[in-house]
Amino acid sequence: MPVGKSESHKQSRARPYIKLITLLVLPVILAVILPRLNLIFNHLARHSSKTTITTMTSNIYARELEVAQLAVQRASILTKRVFHEKAKGTVSKDDKSPVTIGDFGAQALIIAALKANFPQDAIVAEEEAAQLREDAQLREQIWQLVRETKLDDVQAEGLLGGGIKDVDEMLEVLDRGRSEGGRVGRVWTIDPIDGTKGFLRGGQYAVALALLEDGDVKVGVLGCPNLPVDDSAPLTADIGANQTDDEGRGVIFSAVIGLGATSRPLRTGALAEGTRISMKPTTEMKNASFCESVEAGHSNQSEAAQIAQKLGITNPSVRMDSQAKYGSIARGAGDIYLRLPTSKTYQEKIWDHAAGDLIVREAGGQVTDTRGQRLDFGVGRTLATNSGVIAAPAAVHSQVLEAVQEVLGLK
Ligand code: AMP
Ligand code: MG
Repeated sequence: MPVGKSESHKQSRARPYIKLITLLVLPVILAVILPRLNLIFNHLARHSSKTTITTMTSNIYARELEVAQLAVQRASILTKRVFHEKAKGTVSKDDKSPVTIGDFGAQALIIAALKANFPQDAIVAEEEAAQLREDAQLREQIWQLVRETKLDDVQAEGLLGGGIKDVDEMLEVLDRGRSEGGRVGRVWTIDPIDGTKGFLRGGQYAVALALLEDGDVKVGVLGCPNLPVDDSAPLTADIGANQTDDEGRGVIFSAVIGLGATSRPLRTGALAEGTRISMKPTTEMKNASFCESVEAGHSNQSEAAQIAQKLGITNPSVRMDSQAKYGSIARGAGDIYLRLPTSKTYQEKIWDHAAGDLIVREAGGQVTDTRGQRLDFGVGRTLATNSGVIAAPAAVHSQVLEAVQEVLGLK
């Protein structure tokens, strides 16, 4: 038989079987797949949106961010504890002990978390253990506080890993913060209680932590126990003092380079859900508000008033301590932060600005010094090449800078 003929013969014999199989299989396929089509589509859609989100926001600092936020959260809780147990009602600036206890305790908790998770990284922190080595009673008191805070926060303890086993290890941990910083490699910078006077007043203070890589801020976290949780709460004139940390207060700001800035309520255990924050797109200067230090010795307040007047700002300045100023303008509660040098020799410390600088820039702001230079965190423990700080929404920063330079005679 010719080959072609035998093929067509085979095909015609197979045809009824194919029909039968189709008749049997098709209903099965329809019965099984159709009801699931919805699920299949949902899965595909979820999967594809997940991939776009991860490619869009791929966070190579995800672990650093999580550890930093948990460490700041826990350290902030320690400071609240110190305030309630030791500082409440104390307004005397001579009584340094609540500040000392809170400072050392918060720094110990943060460095312990960094040591357990990123043992190779350098650390530039404000405090060192020398004073504690001389004072057994003080170091024992701080150790008890550190231990109790860790015990109360078991969930974070698991996530942060490791810890401090005894008082000697606490001293060793505290002394890890003595790096000179610089332009190369990974450097964390810590201010355990920024705004110590605000802390004592029951006003604003911040627990600040940032990661620098080759001199650039990559991750910034600020714990602000006495700021309102609500991002839209307006800045009131009384924000700088006697703010209790009751219900509705306590916020963590954070930012990762290129990924925006976030705020979330401060609490114990796992981190609360975060919300994206952004600066107010200030256009009308007459309605703008500007923040400055409470301490006249930290920022020239009379020059700030002249600048405000030049810009047409009619609201009085909002005075508060610490990097809570950066957080407040980053979420649009205020507009501008001015820090005008009071002396030619003072060099700003990197731990006073690194976290705030990134949080404001990631929320749509610009941060420079009074000469219009970006803050340079790569020159060591201080901002030795900068002078003052001007932080404002990107759209109006040059206008603010111009007014600053006119008043300071820098033009
Ligand atoms: P603030 O609460 O914004 O006034 O800033 C508090 C920080 O100001 C502290 O952490 C100090 O490191 C820093 N500081 C101390 N002396 C000065 C000064 N003369 N000029 C500017 N900042 C200062
Ligand atoms: Mg400070």
